[in-house]
Amino acid sequence: MDFELSESHRLIQQTARRVSKDVIAPRAAELDITGEYPQDIFQAFADTGLTGLTIPTEYGGSGAGMLALALAVEEVAKYCCASGLMLLLSALPTQPVMIGGDEKQKQWIGKGIASGEIKGAFCLTEPNHGSDAGNLETSAKKDGDDYIINGEKMYISGGTVADYIICFARTQTNGASSAVAGPKGIAAFIVETNSPGFKVAGQDRKMGVRGVPTADIVLEDVRVPRENLIGGAEGQGFNHAMMTLNSCRPVVGARGVGLAEGAMTYALEFARQREAFGKPIAELQAIQFMFAEMAIAIEAARLLVYQGAWRVDQGLYSREHAAYLSIAKAFATETAVKVSSDALQVLGAQGYMMDHPLERHYRDARQLMIVEGTSQVQRVVIARALLERELVYP
Ligand SMILES: Cc1cc2nc3c(=O)[nH]c(=O)nc-3n(C[C@H](O)[C@H](O)[C@H](O)COP(=O)(O)OP(=O)(O)OC[C@H]3O[C@@H](n4cnc5c(N)ncnc54)[C@H](O)[C@@H]3O)c2cc1C
Repeated sequence: MDFELSESHRLIQQTARRVSKDVIAPRAAELDITGEYPQDIFQAFADTGLTGLTIPTEYGGSGAGMLALALAVEEVAKYCCASGLMLLLSALPTQPVMIGGDEKQKQWIGKGIASGEIKGAFCLTEPNHGSDAGNLETSAKKDGDDYIINGEKMYISGGTVADYIICFARTQTNGASSAVAGPKGIAAFIVETNSPGFKVAGQDRKMGVRGVPTADIVLEDVRVPRENLIGGAEGQGFNHAMMTLNSCRPVVGARGVGLAEGAMTYALEFARQREAFGKPIAELQAIQFMFAEMAIAIEAARLLVYQGAWRVDQGLYSREHAAYLSIAKAFATETAVKVSSDALQVLGAQGYMMDHPLERHYRDARQLMIVEGTSQVQRVVIARALLERELVYP
């Protein structure tokens, strides 16, 4: 067992740290206020190769992998969780193609994302189907060589700036009286956002992570050629969605770890300066123990996230391996909420004010327990793995 990062992982970590300090940190508070997508930060990610970390070299990326992306996202999220999400979006709408796509699809999406020429969004959630995505209703009816897609997708991160979406839809073949029910009826399509009938119907007003807009997307008779059906096979879409979510869970966790590290570090510096009862509050044991608790949780979360990302890089992210990734996601994101809350508490009234980043970190952290499978859904996965003896401690 080796806990040392490789030289290439360390270089990626250092690159992300530099971009975070130079480009992201000065802009983080402003992004939260304006809610405008920061194209300059995206460009900095693309220019430094960070958008291509999970894309294999033959498709235009560096093939550095999911641990590399987790390390980069951790650095970014120390200052700005929204920018961490931006970087995560180099993988979330790419993985379905890398997992299930054909050669042409991989070249198209891989090269576009790695170079920063295109952006994607992952469209699974619908107004009536979030956690139970296997029952989604968006339809894709076969029409000659094409599919006609109709439906609505909700809370889509990056939906306002995407050039393409991965749209999960229920297929209905020519002449069939109804679509195939349940997860087996779902296909995944690459849909270009300039297609007639594709509409961004609204942008959400949300609690945090404001730098990456979240959109309501409507598809009205959007015609998609068969060559955009991922892997050329109907019925595989739900599997592509689950495999994608499994593989990205450690990176959502990395957003939590970075956020928690940033929040704790900020509060620690504050505690060294702020005086109460004639001495710095950092000298009060009650405050010291709060920091010790934060560090315990952060270190545990960090190891789980790195291990999870490493497992993804070993190809261990199918259903029978999912529990480890869910544990990492649940623990790291809940750590982010707890640590950012405690760090805010250390600042007293000042922590509640927008003059400091802690109230933003706290609002941002709250998103992490909901996205890409809620904390409850992660526990469903973990409990199932225990009952089915996939997660065993012999
Ligand atoms: C800021 C933001 C960005 C997002 N970005 C995207 C995106 O880019 N693409 C995308 O497709 N989606 C996105 N989502 C949607 C997100 O994935 C869903 O919100 C999430 O999967 C939960 O679905 P839901 O909100 O419909 O809640 P529901 O599924 O309605 O769940 C409501 C509550 O019931 C609980 N619950 C549901 N089922 C179970 C169960 N079986 N056991 C125990 N508890 C259960 C949940 O944990 C939750 O507490 C985003 C959401 C947010 C907030």
